[in-house]
Amino acid sequence: MLEEKISSSSFLVDVAVPVPIVGTNVLTYRVSEVFSSKLVPGVRVIVPVGRRKITGIFIRRSETENFTSPEKIKEILDILDETPVFPRDLTDLWQWAARYYLTSPGEMLGAMLPGWMLTESKIMVRVKRPTKSPVRKKKPKTNQEREDDNPHDTLGIGIPPPTIPMLTATEQAVWDYLQNQQRVSTKTLRRQFPTISLFSALKTLEEHQLIELSDGISKQQRNHISIFHEREDFAQKIPVSSVNLSAAQTQAYAKIAEVLRSEKFRVFLLHGVTGSGKTEVYLRLVQTAITQRKRVLLLVPEIALTHQLVERATERFGQRVVVLHSAQTVNERWQVWRHITSGQIDIVIGVRSAVFAPIENLGLIVVDEEHDSAYKQEDTPRYHARDLAIVRGKLASCPVVLGSATPSLESYAHCQTRRYSLLELSERVEARSLPSVEIVDLRQWKHKSDDSDRIFSPVLRQALLDNYHAGKQSLLFLNRRGYASYLQCKSCGEVLSCNQCSVTLTFHLQGRVVRCHYCGFSRPAPDHCPHCHELDLEGSGVGTEQIEEALVRLLPNARVARLDRDSVRKKGMLGKVIESWRTHETDVLIGTQMVTKGHDVPGVTLVGVLLADVALNLPDFRAAERTFQLLTQVAGRAGRGEDPGRVIIQTYSPQHYSIRCAVQHDFLRFATLELRYRKKLGYPPFARMVNVRFEGVDGERVRTAAEQFVVRLSAFKTSTNSKGPTILGPAPAPIERIKGRERWQVLIKGEDRPLLHELVAKVQEEAPGRGGSSQLRIVVDVDPYNML
Ligand code: ADP
Ligand code: ZN
Repeated sequence: MLEEKISSSSFLVDVAVPVPIVGTNVLTYRVSEVFSSKLVPGVRVIVPVGRRKITGIFIRRSETENFTSPEKIKEILDILDETPVFPRDLTDLWQWAARYYLTSPGEMLGAMLPGWMLTESKIMVRVKRPTKSPVRKKKPKTNQEREDDNPHDTLGIGIPPPTIPMLTATEQAVWDYLQNQQRVSTKTLRRQFPTISLFSALKTLEEHQLIELSDGISKQQRNHISIFHEREDFAQKIPVSSVNLSAAQTQAYAKIAEVLRSEKFRVFLLHGVTGSGKTEVYLRLVQTAITQRKRVLLLVPEIALTHQLVERATERFGQRVVVLHSAQTVNERWQVWRHITSGQIDIVIGVRSAVFAPIENLGLIVVDEEHDSAYKQEDTPRYHARDLAIVRGKLASCPVVLGSATPSLESYAHCQTRRYSLLELSERVEARSLPSVEIVDLRQWKHKSDDSDRIFSPVLRQALLDNYHAGKQSLLFLNRRGYASYLQCKSCGEVLSCNQCSVTLTFHLQGRVVRCHYCGFSRPAPDHCPHCHELDLEGSGVGTEQIEEALVRLLPNARVARLDRDSVRKKGMLGKVIESWRTHETDVLIGTQMVTKGHDVPGVTLVGVLLADVALNLPDFRAAERTFQLLTQVAGRAGRGEDPGRVIIQTYSPQHYSIRCAVQHDFLRFATLELRYRKKLGYPPFARMVNVRFEGVDGERVRTAAEQFVVRLSAFKTSTNSKGPTILGPAPAPIERIKGRERWQVLIKGEDRPLLHELVAKVQEEAPGRGGSSQLRIVVDVDPYNML
């Protein structure tokens, strides 16, 4: 009897929720038939999950019919949107990504949506007529009566309600409560009325024009939206670019534009040396896409450091551009998200997570600086935005352009097998030459007469002096922040290290503290050795702070600035440092890899690399690739204006091929050598990898878990009866302890990607307490980048 009634008045739906649930994409809920027209795929709904109420995405009507106990299926509590916020192609991307990255669909969804969509909705309720009791209480209606009501009978059309509306007891209670509040969020309301169907009560009150519902978008933002040009005339209003593309630019543009026009999927690797005009090619393509009435997604590794691209795009395409970046608050990101779904945006520029922007009708995807490791998310789910951009392009059937002066070997290898098309811009625009690069061999040079001598070789010192006196700008690069990497007692040999992590503490002059770069722990720097109490602590491993100090001594009158994570911790500092660098209010800029990224500052004629070996000596198979990329990119900052550039690289490994190739600006030679080496050792791109890391306070338990994982993995591997992947480990991670947790890892590597992933997925499913517990965390990293 009960079942009959349920099936006649309600139906079942699949809802995606951002909580990790094993083995399923969606949860099933019940929803009353009256809402069927409101439920469009992609709108947000509020559903109960356990004891919590969570925002989810309505995916579709449920296909499953045979539930063992359908009466236990819970009801949807709220429908938050009238139009979808999660378009169809995102649904496919979402499911693909969850499968590929071996993560639960819920976790993947959580990464895709702007933060606060995950928790309660923040819909605001405002009372429209705050007069006391305009509503007369009537006999409460039954549900059936309410469904029979036609709102137009009581409301009339377009005019205020002539009669006092009839409310149910529930609606009346909510209305009574609201009259004492001017503005209240649905979150508060739900706390007040935990058991009722709040959404339908509010809908009735809204229909009676007693209240107003708003989604937290400010008035200002709305005005901003409304002044946008109509899409129709926008394509004609784009100012024609004044630059004439070079022959190489034209050729690259034409190849991509052809695919764009025919709405096909194809990946292009645009390999262009620094300053070769890649950005100009992107912007032309954007223009073509818009003329085709298509939308564009432009991914960049970091907004603040690629500010010029945003500026140039906004200059040209005005208000049809929005930017998504990590410095935005969750609320701001949500506003941008809504803005995109409103259909008034044609170009979305954003960092990693923007690969999930809700853009429909995509015609072009550009991934600038595609080699940058910032595209890899280092938190669960550990997706790679460049790789997902390619999947998205395939789903949307549009070209994907990967641009870089130093392509990743993964992308380059795909060009060799012709899966991607390689396009080259091998010269700088307007026949500007690439800077000349010299190497200083630190092994042959050992004066230690004064402090600054230990940092600047005579060649670099002279070059800095000359460049400053010529009124030019110099850039100094060292990939190590702080003052000294560690403090060591010269009496007993003790090195200060973190109690929670197996790393040394870095000495920071700013605040005179020692700080752990892994867990953030810091304390005042001690004068005496904590071990033998001698006053004999000495810093080793020069960091950016020490360079700055030495430079001030060398050039006391120069305007010096430092760009690293410490110097720009204060909000707004990053913008300031970059702005004064661009406007030549800074003569010398010192920094970590933050200075290697895309600034186009014409006054820079000298680049100094203080120690090229820093990235080279990390225990990572990509160490040589990273070194080549960093050196080439930083060298590319020099000589972008009229005057030629000069680059001086100090190193202890002048013979290393990554350094030699960077000196000669020879990507092809580097790629050939490096690929040969990767092939020999069976590393990506010739194999795929999954790193499974086990973390926990109890080291013994962590090791056992890792060992058991390997046992199960080996068993499965044998049962698949194939060549199968190689299992490396279990072994302690290179950094054995972080934040008091011991870390072990198992690295699995193989040529057959689907088999590799299937194997790990199987073992994962079998594992008790998948994902781990508070005592044991299991991190699965597909295509890992950081394996420390
Ligand atoms: P990349 O992205 O390859 O480093 P950009 O696109 O930023 O290079 O171009 C470098 C500089 O050259 C920019 O100032 C840009 O405006 C200018 N530029 C690009 N293409 C041309 C061109 N065809 N003619 C003249 N200047 C150009
Ligand atoms: Zn620490």
